[in-house]
Amino acid sequence: SSPMPTTDSHFVVEAASPAALESMMTHRLLILGGTMEARLLAQRLAARADLDITLSLAGRTLNPVAQPVPTRTGGFGGAAGLADYLRRERIDLLVDATHPFAARISANAAEAARRAAVSLLTLRRPAWRRQEGDDWTEVGSVAEAVAALGATPRRVFVTLGRQELRPLEAAPHHAYVIRSVDPVEPPLALPDARYILDRGPFDVQRERALLESLGIEVILSKNSGGEAAHGKIATARGLGLPVVMVARPPVSGDAVTTVEEAVEKVAHLLPPMARRGE
Ligand code: NAP
Repeated sequence: SSPMPTTDSHFVVEAASPAALESMMTHRLLILGGTMEARLLAQRLAARADLDITLSLAGRTLNPVAQPVPTRTGGFGGAAGLADYLRRERIDLLVDATHPFAARISANAAEAARRAAVSLLTLRRPAWRRQEGDDWTEVGSVAEAVAALGATPRRVFVTLGRQELRPLEAAPHHAYVIRSVDPVEPPLALPDARYILDRGPFDVQRERALLESLGIEVILSKNSGGEAAHGKIATARGLGLPVVMVARPPVSGDAVTTVEEAVEKVAHLLPPMARRGE
């Protein structure tokens, strides 16, 4: 009698499905973004066949710029929701590349990474430092910034997020020029407010021309850091314009400050591939 043909069924039991095979050979990254750095980091990593990258956006911007990797949009439902997502999607590494002023999502990222036992890498661009020739008043909040503008009416150039503008209504005696990516709706309850819609990067020459043509006397800015928004700060220095600068919210934990450093760190933080099939 001939032996039972067991080899085929044996093979089927041992073989991994294409999806399982792929998950053994790739690491899954979730990048919390909404910044230029997140986009550049994703771009740098996108070509790597061993990485499966998703970029997460909050969904604040109406027409977000195109991203080099697949995106998902909207909140996770706090730290617990993000931890669930990390487990469900079998994320190997969470990268927090959100804006330095996006403090809640960064706190959630730290908490969720801890709960889901996933490595966390934080990429945060350095703050701008006061330099020779700068005339800055540093404050802790937008409300303090508005108070710091003083009692004398001034022409103010405002580059805050459109969700952060309401405190300006406490000082209706100033004339405001407000620049944002998306329209401020409803408009502020202010007698003299103009709106400019524009998206960075902003270069120094254009910023200087704009601020001079508007007759700006003082700039109200957050200390976002980075190159793309620095044109107005350099212009202020050159023109001797005062800047009321909102300091960053405090953050905990280590962070790298450049995309280059982040690329390097990613390699170190990923679990070794060999353990993945166990
Ligand atoms: P936030 O106050 O720290 O976060 C508020 C909530 O928005 C979070 O709790 C989270 O909702 C959700 N969220 C924030 N970032 C997210 C992301 N990348 N993916 C998915 N959900 C996110 O944040 P924010 O200051 O409003 O900033 C929102 C987004 O705009 C961020 O992506 C940030 O990088 C970007 N951005 C912010 C600023 C700024 O000045 N704040 C400037 C430029 C760009 P759940 O709790 O439901 O998960």
